[in-house]
Amino acid sequence: MIRACPSCGQQNRIPASRLDARALCGTCKSPLSPLDDPWEIADAATFDELVRESPLPVVVDFWAPWCGPCHAVAPEVKKLASTFAGKVVVAKANTDQLQEIAGRYGIRSIPTLIRFDAGKETARATGAQSAAALAATLGLDAGAAGAYAR
Ligand SMILES: [Zn+2]
Repeated sequence: MIRACPSCGQQNRIPASRLDARALCGTCKSPLSPLDDPWEIADAATFDELVRESPLPVVVDFWAPWCGPCHAVAPEVKKLASTFAGKVVVAKANTDQLQEIAGRYGIRSIPTLIRFDAGKETARATGAQSAAALAATLGLDAGAAGAYAR
């Protein structure tokens, strides 16, 4: 994935296999913070690389621009990304653009969030829910749950 350096703006390419490591900017050597915002998956190849190579659990939010409940849950998904930054990678898949992926996982209603560990689906949550409810359904570490209170 491509991450912009917060210090110099340089675009850095981070391999999915190194998402758990503390990356440094290739230009100015500043540390790049862990991903704390949902990351938009551009294409099927990127999806496959991410879920297969990531050493961290990956939660993918399957959504579409025309889906009202998807917009309703978007701030909760953003909360998941910031709460679990550095522990879980939160990504978004637009099912209009990634129809093959949506078909592969039998996505019939959106929003659907799927957790992947080492490329395999391990949990699924359907429908708009709070970040805390999503985390519970997806089996994310309850140790960080205090963060939801804020
Ligand atoms: Zn930099």
